[in-house]
Amino acid sequence: MTQIYERVALIGLGLIASSMAHAMRRAGLAGEIVGTARSAETRDITRELGFCDRVVDTVTEAVEGADLVVLAVPIGVMSEVAREIGPHLAKGATVTDVGSVKRAVLDAVSPHIPDNVEFIPGHPLAGTEHSGPRSGFAELFENRFCILVPSENADVDAVDRLTVFWEGMGANVETMDVDHHDLVLAVTSHTPHLIAYTMVGVADDLRRVTDSEVIKYSAAGFRDFTRIAASDPTMWRDVFLNNKEATLEVLGRFTEELFALQRAIRTGDGEHLFDYFSHTRAIRRGIVEAGQDTDAPDFGRMGKKS
Ligand code: NAP
Repeated sequence: MTQIYERVALIGLGLIASSMAHAMRRAGLAGEIVGTARSAETRDITRELGFCDRVVDTVTEAVEGADLVVLAVPIGVMSEVAREIGPHLAKGATVTDVGSVKRAVLDAVSPHIPDNVEFIPGHPLAGTEHSGPRSGFAELFENRFCILVPSENADVDAVDRLTVFWEGMGANVETMDVDHHDLVLAVTSHTPHLIAYTMVGVADDLRRVTDSEVIKYSAAGFRDFTRIAASDPTMWRDVFLNNKEATLEVLGRFTEELFALQRAIRTGDGEHLFDYFSHTRAIRRGIVEAGQDTDAPDFGRMGKKS
């Protein structure tokens, strides 16, 4: 048990914040965890679950005397929350966030952070399709990457401390340039989510395929699309509104590749299809070898009851 911060303030008490609280508790990383959320309902549920030491009603109360403040709210409200807390932040505190897009958050939050406070944006590459305070669990960040995007003149000690904090929650920490982060995530997360949303929408649109058939025969591939497409609508709306350029760039390339595959199917170009699929299979192997997924058949679901 190594305490890294005396008081951690969690703004927002959803999947990410509640998982952080559980993970912090498990490793003894915080002297005290104070939390707040927008609705009285979420605050009450959090009090009932007990993963924070104190739950307060306002963001200004939450940040009082905190040496780490974590913004774990949807990207669209980061600016509003930062404006509210700015004047109440403790001297020498670190503010971080967990938003899935980094350039927009950096631009929205930075103007509200006083000179004597460090803002180090972050993004844990971990999540599920569930949201809210009941969905969190201590293992969420284990062996997952957490990307920090500190500015060039960020305080080295503050960055080191935040790094050790995330490592204490099980994450592998890397630093990255802010715009590069947004492009990488557009490829690895944002565009795949959009494709999943589209595919599920298309299946729903095909009147010949009834809803019951979609559900009944969803074992292969499609089921994983439906899981991704069940992700929180607010969060994902904000991701696309705030990572517009990179997502549109990746979508443009995606469309070109899709047309090429479509052409190969129409012209019966089996060689093109085979080569393409062999290449993508090698990418999957790389992900498994990097320890970022299981090699078990059916993503490890086979043999499990759920
Ligand atoms: P979530 O489960 O939907 O929780 C969001 C929390 O923010 C809720 O507690 C909500 O309160 C609170 N909130 C919203 N507006 C607020 C405001 N104005 N003031 C105070 N609290 C407010 O979301 P999440 O999945 O934890 O995501 C949080 C952040 O993490 C997002 O920026 C997202 O991009 C990022 N992220 C998510 C994932 C993922 O897979 N879910 C992964 C990595 C990063 P109420 O409950 O009262 O509405």
